[in-house]
Amino acid sequence: MKVFEKQDNVFKILSEAVSEGIIVVNKEQIIVATNGSANDIFGYDQGELIGKPLNVLIPQNYHHNHGAHFKSFVNNAEKRHMGRGRDIYGVRKDGSEFPLEAGLNPFSIYDNNYVMALVIDITERKEQERRIRELNSELEQKIEERTEELHQSIQELKEEVKLRKEAEAKAKESLKKERDLNELKTKFLSLVSHEFKTPLGGILTSATLVGKYTKGEQQDKREKHLKTIKNKVKYLDNILSDFLSIERLETGKVTYKFSKFPLSKVVNEVVYNANMSLKDGQRINYPKDIDEYIVDFDEKILELVLSNLIHNAVKYSGEHTIIDVEVSFEDDKIVFKISDQGIGIPEKEQEFIFKRYFRAENALLNQGTGIGLNIAKNHLENLGGTLTFTSKEGVGSTFTVEIPIQP
Ligand code: ADP
Repeated sequence: MKVFEKQDNVFKILSEAVSEGIIVVNKEQIIVATNGSANDIFGYDQGELIGKPLNVLIPQNYHHNHGAHFKSFVNNAEKRHMGRGRDIYGVRKDGSEFPLEAGLNPFSIYDNNYVMALVIDITERKEQERRIRELNSELEQKIEERTEELHQSIQELKEEVKLRKEAEAKAKESLKKERDLNELKTKFLSLVSHEFKTPLGGILTSATLVGKYTKGEQQDKREKHLKTIKNKVKYLDNILSDFLSIERLETGKVTYKFSKFPLSKVVNEVVYNANMSLKDGQRINYPKDIDEYIVDFDEKILELVLSNLIHNAVKYSGEHTIIDVEVSFEDDKIVFKISDQGIGIPEKEQEFIFKRYFRAENALLNQGTGIGLNIAKNHLENLGGTLTFTSKEGVGSTFTVEIPIQP
């Protein structure tokens, strides 16, 4: 202690120049010197701390630990920071505690060991750190909220994109329908100009000729021409019906009408009509023992399908050939087979045969629109039936229709 009294002036001059609190203790942990900053930090008057144990500056609950630490520290005698990795606290004269940072510097004068502690009150820094942590967590909270909002927006956006895509698809579809209908109209016009010309020409010729056969015995000639006229009118009527059928299918306006009718009625009617357009020596074989079969189906559609297939068979096969119409019954369906010995369908074109307007290369010499099969298949499939075929070019074709029935 004496040492410090002697050196008082030097110590004062040096220690008052630093802003940290300086506290010097001897090895008994008695305070032997403090500077003004230390007094201010701990709330003591000048000189008031001298002679007091260091413990007055240390909170009660640290006393025990501190003593042990201090001893080993003084013995090892090297500079170091206190409270590395954990907060340390001081206690003021009024008993209040505050966080501090302290650097310890052991030294000895005249064989006496001392420790000089440099102390900084870090209340403010701690407060700032706390504030920063608080701000950080507020920030994190905000980021979380924003992220959540962003997710929400993305979700909404996705929803909107989906809706928009759906609307687009719908628009596209109706555009396609419109285009198809336009195409239909264009096709119709071009067909009317080409396809109608020949039969109309034929009708005109026949009508003119009929007018010339005035004698009574020329009745068979008159009948021949009238038959031609009927056939061609029927042909034109069929084309018109096909177009109407397409338009109804396209616009979704088809309505089917189920009714119970004898199968033989439809078959006989279709065969009767087809017989009118047979070529020389052509014959249609058809079942005549089906009178008792009553079916529950759309009669018009069945008639349309069978008449289409039988007409094709007649049209696409030569004179003196046989067209076979077979009907068989299975548990849940009726199967019709229409076979001919005609030109057949080239293998490489078979896959397109049900496409609207498609006509095979070898069929182009015959009149036709390429619509019939397409419509027949569409109607049948709408009603739970099927239409398939097998064919060999130059040998013949077999078209198979299946319609469902209640077992
Ligand atoms: P169209 O007979 O008016 O051309 P379809 O839709 O009835 O139209 O037939 C489409 C095409 O299928 C025909 O152009 C023809 O090439 C082929 N086809 C249909 N039926 C037969 C058949 N029985 N024999 C050979 N080819 C056929």
